[in-house]
This record gives sequence, structure tokens and C-alpha cells, in this order.
Amino acid sequence: MNPRQGFDNWDSYRSVREKLSRLVAARGDGRLRLVKDTSNLFRPRTAAEGTLDMRRLNRVIEVDPEAMTAEVEGMTTFEAFVDATLPRGLRPPVVPELKTITVGGAVSGAGIESSSFRYGLVHENVEEMEVLCADGTVRLCRPDNEHADLFRAIPNSYGTLGYILRLRVKLLAAPPYAALTHWRYRDRVQFLAALVAACGRGAAMPDFVEGVVFAPDDFVLTTARLTDEAGPVSDYTGMGIYYRSLRSRGEDRLTVRDFLWRWDPDWFWCSRSFGMQNPLLRRLLGRWMLRSSSYGKAKALYERWGIEERVTALRRALGRPVELSEQVIQDVEIPIDHAPEFLDFYFREIDIRPCWVCPLRPLAAAADWTLFAMKPGALYLNFGFWGSVRSSAAKAAGHFNRRVERTVQELGGRKSLYSRSYFPEAEFWRIYNGEAYARLKAKYDPRGAFDDLYRKAVLGG
Ligand SMILES: Cc1cc2nc3c(=O)[nH]c(=O)nc-3n(C[C@H](O)[C@H](O)[C@H](O)COP(=O)(O)OP(=O)(O)OC[C@H]3O[C@@H](n4cnc5c(N)ncnc54)[C@H](O)[C@@H]3O)c2cc1C
Repeated sequence: MNPRQGFDNWDSYRSVREKLSRLVAARGDGRLRLVKDTSNLFRPRTAAEGTLDMRRLNRVIEVDPEAMTAEVEGMTTFEAFVDATLPRGLRPPVVPELKTITVGGAVSGAGIESSSFRYGLVHENVEEMEVLCADGTVRLCRPDNEHADLFRAIPNSYGTLGYILRLRVKLLAAPPYAALTHWRYRDRVQFLAALVAACGRGAAMPDFVEGVVFAPDDFVLTTARLTDEAGPVSDYTGMGIYYRSLRSRGEDRLTVRDFLWRWDPDWFWCSRSFGMQNPLLRRLLGRWMLRSSSYGKAKALYERWGIEERVTALRRALGRPVELSEQVIQDVEIPIDHAPEFLDFYFREIDIRPCWVCPLRPLAAAADWTLFAMKPGALYLNFGFWGSVRSSAAKAAGHFNRRVERTVQELGGRKSLYSRSYFPEAEFWRIYNGEAYARLKAKYDPRGAFDDLYRKAVLGG
């Protein structure tokens, strides 16, 4: 069998690329906005209609088992990507934890996952990209060609310098099973020490390392190794709930596919806000609801219908107490040496439980990523927390999110821009290399066809 069989998407890719290029070249003065069916963004956006429909660019064009690379269209979800590679015994090195995150979205948003302590961030596994620029030109960007400046600036640009149409991504071997071990700690110092040791560079290094903070005295460290060894496997796609298993089992096994998507059916643990950890609802609605994209859609409806505001208004009208809270949905990267201080701050001021902890170690060229430079080879911990903190009328809007931003800065860390940000403009550009961004914007988007990063990430443009 021809190992590339089953993929014949070059013609269709070229034809869509051609159409998009013509459409952008012929556009008037309006802003270009992406049309997309799914999104994993958690910040408010203006309701303006999208104008750039890239939805057809959602396929794997080719898998090359000899070169160990795949050619992927920019809107391909990681679910589709993984489904194209696993049957060939291959996988992308870094697969973000939610199925509908797209390859282009993860590269432009500096995506990570629990293999990132070995293989860096999603964009560090990309060999080249074709980027649709504001004048309709499609530029081939590689680290070693005339558009290396754009190649290095795409991560963390969130579609403000151009849209990625195609990527060549490295692949790794993917044995069919994952063997997991969970270690439980009462003490944060021991937990952090064990996590650092698990990320060591020796031969015994696992394939995946991550942690979950359940409480100030309850931490679980998970390591996983991919293996060919067959055996019974667990199933967390139905009645079983993965995150609960972390505290009840020492060891576990999953198929590699179920392992990669272990966090998806319960959106980590956020499914509980939708009642989906109730066994009855799970049995009744599980078939449709146990998927991160379903929660995303339900959340969008909840916001569109203004349910929270209506409930608050009703409680006020009935003279009932109204509890004020602030949504704090953030992923932050903290240098490992400052992780204990971050945890102190976190328990003192935020304390959303649980909290995901994912180690990452950027690769050799990490200092060169223009808008998301990191220290090559240094270990960072990503803390992911998604929930609400009780607030009061005396607190300014965004008080807790701003506390997170300030603390992350003080500790030498970096905050992802997929969710709400409150940075004043000057501070934002100091952090995200405004000088270089302005130069690139002037070169690749002089008429402002795409939003500006500050407008998009902070002002909700
Ligand atoms: C609960 C939760 C868990 C998360 N877990 C993870 C995780 O495990 N790992 C991780 O990496 N991230 C995680 N994220 C963050 C998520 O990866 C980012 O929000 C990512 O940018 C979403 O990508 P998307 O494909 O859904 O794109 P969208 O949400 O549709 O878009 C994201 C941004 O990227 C831009 N964009 C989209 N496609 C392209 C393209 N082809 N070219 C250029 N720009 C483009 C869009 O314009 C937009 O600004 C998590 C978020 C939440 C809320």
C-alpha cells in the first residue's frame, strides 16, 4: 500500500488558496475577519460578521511517513489531524488537549500540551507555513527563507499579521496504548520537586507529564508513556470521568486516541457547570454533550441570551442577595523557580479548583519567536484555571484578572492571550514586543486589513 494513499488534497488546497488570495487582493477597505464554525477563544469579540471564509481548509493534505511530516490545512482540527495520523502509527508531537483546537489557531496562539516539556510548543514543531497576507499574497514562510521574519512572528499574533493556510508539521511514532501513573502529594514542595524530576532528561523520561492541583494540600502528578503492550483499557468517554480517576487510581491505561483526548469529554472538569457530571444527565445527554465543542456552544448561547444578567436582575427584583463574581479564565506560564510563589499567590487570591499544571520546555530557537520569546531549554509551568472568583462592588472590573497579569509579570512569566486581558496599552506592547510588531505590521499589513493585536486581545476587536 502506498503509505500516502487516502490523501489527495493538494488540488483542492491549491484551488481554495487561489480563491482566497484573489478575494483578499480584491477586497475594499473593510477589516478581514475569519469565518469559523468553532472557537476556543474566551474573550469578548465584536459581533461583526466574518469576511474570510477559510472553513474549507480543514483537511490533512498529505502524511509522509518517510519524512515523518504532514501537510495540514490551517483550519484542520487536531481531532482530524490525529485521526489521519494514528492509523499510520504516527502523531503530532504536541496535541493541545481539546479536539476542536485547529492547527492554525494553536500556532497563532502559542499552544501547548503535556508533551511540551519534551517537544516545546505547537509552533516549534512546524517546519514551514503558507500565510495569506493582507494584500492577497500567499507567502511561504520558513525559518531560513526571505520570510523568516513572518515565520517567527506568527506565534502569538492571533491572525493579526496574516492567516495560516497550510503548515508542514513534524510527526512522531505513536504506539497504540498509553500507560499512566498518578502520584498524589499533600505537600506542594514535594509535588513540584517530583514534577521537575519527571521532566528530567534521562532515558527514563516519560512521554507526557502534567499535574492537577485539587486543593492547597492535594496535588496529583501524572506521567504517561506510549507503549505497544496490549491490555485492558479504561474509558472516559461515557460514564467515567477522567479527572476524578486521578485521585482514585495509581495506574491506568488508555488507547492512545483516548489518552490524547482524555480532557475533552469533560472539558477538563468544566462539564460540572453544565450538570454533566450528574450520572442521569450523563446517561441521557452524554452522546451529544460530552465534547468540548458542545460546552463551547452551550456557553455561547448562555451568553447570547444574557442568562446571568437576567438571573441577577430577577434576584434583585425579588430582594434576594446577589453574589458578585468575576470570571477568571487564564493560562499562564511561570518559570519553574517562581512556581512556589505563584502557587502562594494563587491560593491566596484566586483559588479556583482544580487547576491544571503543564510543564513546558521551549526548544533551542525559543528566544527568536518575536511575539512570544521564551528562554530556550528552561522549564516553565503552565497553570490553567477556568472559573469565577467571588468579588464585590468595591473592586474594579477585572480586578482579579489584573492581579494575575501583574503577578505573572513580577515572576517573569507570560500570559496567553486567548482569554480576557486588561493590560494598559503601553504595558501590553512592552511585554509583547510592540516595536518589532509595529515594524512587521507596517511591512505585511500597512493598511490595517487585519486587526491590531492590542485591539484584538485586550479591547475585544
Ligand atoms: C478550557 C480551555 C482549555 C484549553 N486548553 C488548551 C490546551 O490544552 N492547549 C492549548 O494549546 N490551548 C488550550 N487552550 C487555548 C486554545 O488553544 C487557544 O484559545 C487557541 O488559540 C484556540 O485555537 P482555535 O483553533 O480554537 O482558534 P480560534 O479560537 O477560532 O481562534 C483563535 C485565534 O487564532 C486566530 N486564528 C485561527 N486560525 C488561524 C489561522 N489559520 N491563522 C492565523 N490565525 C488564526 C483567530 O483569528 C483567533 O484570533 C484552552 C482554552 C480553554 C478555554
